[in-house]
Amino acid sequence: MAVNKHSKKYFALICIFWLGLTRAGKTQTRCDLGLDAPGRAAYSEWRASIDAYKNIDLRTTMTIPVVVHIVYRTGDENLSDRQIQSQIDALNRAYANPADTRSGVPKEFAELQSVPGVHFCLASMDPDGQMTNGITRTKTNFENIGLLFGDGQRRSIHYAILGGADAWDPDHYFNIWVGELGGLLGRATMPGTNLLFEEDGIVIAPEVFGTTGTVAYPFHQGKTAVHEAGHYLGLPHLWGMNAGDCTEDDGLADTPVQAGPYLGCPEYPQYSCGTSDLFNDYMDFTDDDCLLLFTHDQVQLMLATLTGYRKGLLESAGCSEHPGWSPTDQLVFVSYAAARRQLEVVWRRPGESVYDIRIWDVAGRLLVHQKGYGFTPWIVPVTSWVNGLYFVQIISAGNQTTQKVLIY
Ligand SMILES: [Zn+2]
Repeated sequence: MAVNKHSKKYFALICIFWLGLTRAGKTQTRCDLGLDAPGRAAYSEWRASIDAYKNIDLRTTMTIPVVVHIVYRTGDENLSDRQIQSQIDALNRAYANPADTRSGVPKEFAELQSVPGVHFCLASMDPDGQMTNGITRTKTNFENIGLLFGDGQRRSIHYAILGGADAWDPDHYFNIWVGELGGLLGRATMPGTNLLFEEDGIVIAPEVFGTTGTVAYPFHQGKTAVHEAGHYLGLPHLWGMNAGDCTEDDGLADTPVQAGPYLGCPEYPQYSCGTSDLFNDYMDFTDDDCLLLFTHDQVQLMLATLTGYRKGLLESAGCSEHPGWSPTDQLVFVSYAAARRQLEVVWRRPGESVYDIRIWDVAGRLLVHQKGYGFTPWIVPVTSWVNGLYFVQIISAGNQTTQKVLIY
């Protein structure tokens, strides 16, 4: 593979930033997929076998049941339930609600932004059908257990017998292990790779898990798990499997070709391979403050993974209980702001942040048909509409409601 002048220069840049990652005498590495040549080939083969651009029906609510295995050596590493929940919330902000992340995204990238509409929940039912809070806690004596191997090629953190914690059926639960990684922040198993079933999931260092408690700047917003969950759902890094060249990247059309990772939080714009690079993308290596979006094609690939290779998660009973859900009607608010001549629609159903909005007039003509995302008010300007009665219909997974509104 040819290494051109541009990429050599880029490599030098990486090294400078790499040094910048060494903080308080500790070197931190964002992510290591640990894929050998056969593993990379297996991933490529899997990618070639799926249709990443098939139409996925976004009206289906996709909820991924999560089990968090806390494998701690020190008391600090035995993270509180609150800190664990803050990580689940951070995943949901990234995967289900774009509202928090839009600010700070350069206009060029904002146009690419998309939201999977995927919701994560701590499992409420374990594989034996017993009620659970979706958290297991294991005390270990092994330092950096996340890097250790025992019993041949098995990674210790994934096995109780090796000092770690056993997975819950990886077909039906998204297993997240939290344990010492010796300066590495996260690791993930990608679909199609030749890995052991019992090790399927992601591993996150305790110091970057969640958004409260023991987490520290600049990896304090739970974005490490957002990034690793992206791998788990099929996404490669923006630069593909090999950093430092422009001849291959992630194989997705709407992410610009990028030579390698960005670190820190660079100023916009940054260029490599002749394009303005998407360093705000969750699949880059920048600091948490800087990781802000997925693109449309990334979302399509993740949804194809979730409805294909990982469809067992959607069939799982792990999150079958949703305490606190109320009837749909109480969670939809449609109002008309006469002064601004606009309709305002607010939808607040936990776990169903993707929905369809349709508006008809009294003659039954469909005036608006659009997808809504997240829980922020959805504004419909009606300046040119004639006064009268309109019908606003909201459809989410398994629920629909129609409300009348008068424009005057
Ligand atoms: Zn990664």
